[in-house]
Amino acid sequence: MTISYEKFALKEVINASGKMTILGVSKVSENVLAAQRFGGEHFFEMSDLAVKTGAYLSQLLKVEDAQIVSSASAGIAQSVAALIGQGDLYHVYHPYTEKITRREIVVPKGHNVDYGTPVEVMVAQGGGQVVEAGYANMCTPAHVARMITEETAALLYIKSHHTVQKSMLTVSEMVEVAKAHHLPLIVDAAAEEDLFKYSEMGADLVIYSGAKAIEGPSAGLVIGKKEYIQWIRLQSKGIGRAMKIGKDNILGFTQAVEDYLQNGSESGESMKQRLAPFVAAINQLPDLSAKIVQDGAGRDIYRASVTVAGKKSAKEVIEELKAQNPAVYTREYQANNGIIEFDIRSVNQNEMEKIIKRLKEIM
Ligand SMILES: *Cc1c(COP(=O)(O)O)cnc(C)c1O
Repeated sequence: MTISYEKFALKEVINASGKMTILGVSKVSENVLAAQRFGGEHFFEMSDLAVKTGAYLSQLLKVEDAQIVSSASAGIAQSVAALIGQGDLYHVYHPYTEKITRREIVVPKGHNVDYGTPVEVMVAQGGGQVVEAGYANMCTPAHVARMITEETAALLYIKSHHTVQKSMLTVSEMVEVAKAHHLPLIVDAAAEEDLFKYSEMGADLVIYSGAKAIEGPSAGLVIGKKEYIQWIRLQSKGIGRAMKIGKDNILGFTQAVEDYLQNGSESGESMKQRLAPFVAAINQLPDLSAKIVQDGAGRDIYRASVTVAGKKSAKEVIEELKAQNPAVYTREYQANNGIIEFDIRSVNQNEMEKIIKRLKEIM
């Protein structure tokens, strides 16, 4: 039996909610699939594959070196371990020993969030101890500096919409604190779209997630200083083994980065064009009125905003969309106001037609 949703009695999922980890984050392109297939069908000297793909990506991203890991979370754990152990093999084989005490990782308190997993769990997996700087609603460079001691191994900055945004020091300010104290700075930029910015600002290690903005297969990327990247590579003899990434995804992810740099993400203009017939078709349906709206945070993302009037509430429509096969997932944040949002970044023409068909049945 060939692979299909039916084989495992799974529901087909149409993802009109955006980039969601719970739905598998991204679909990959034909180009990336071809690279994965080449990886799956051939053998490699694996340590060479890691070093050479890292060197290739570091050229593209204008950094000293790069290492592909299994996820951004693995990137956090292995970066922390690398900066505690500093290339020492004793540490690799005894990552949690009490004989090594310099384990503190200073993080702004408002950055110690749960992105699906708490940041501090990944830091702990790397053998680090989170030391929070500042307060839940405020963190200045002085707050960070005050928490630095002889036991500090690194500073960590989480660049994400998950964190507190108000009254937090900037990445540049964190870089200045790190430099002033001769400490390495890790920036977790897992879902960020700019693959150059944080390295250019002076972060020593920058971490990205493979399947978020880059739309690659399941993977993570750490870029930065050559020596630190070598220390991260060394973790494959220790904790990194439990976070191993396969040859297929190493090659698929490398291709995804190359494609992403060449094509970028879909433009807002293109989304508006694809949305126009979708919105027009929804406006033909009873009790629904649709329009195109820009992302609330002002990003170049456009979505269909559908107001539900009449007997069924927006929440009921959302539940019915998820209940059947295919299951259609939407953005639910505005359901209280009677609005359903459709994010079409991962939805193709054929799937849009299926959504219209489901809405017709429901209404
Ligand atoms: C998604 C995310 C991660 C984890 O990425 P994975 O590749 O899924 O491990 C880490 N940090 C932040 C801020 C994220 O948004």
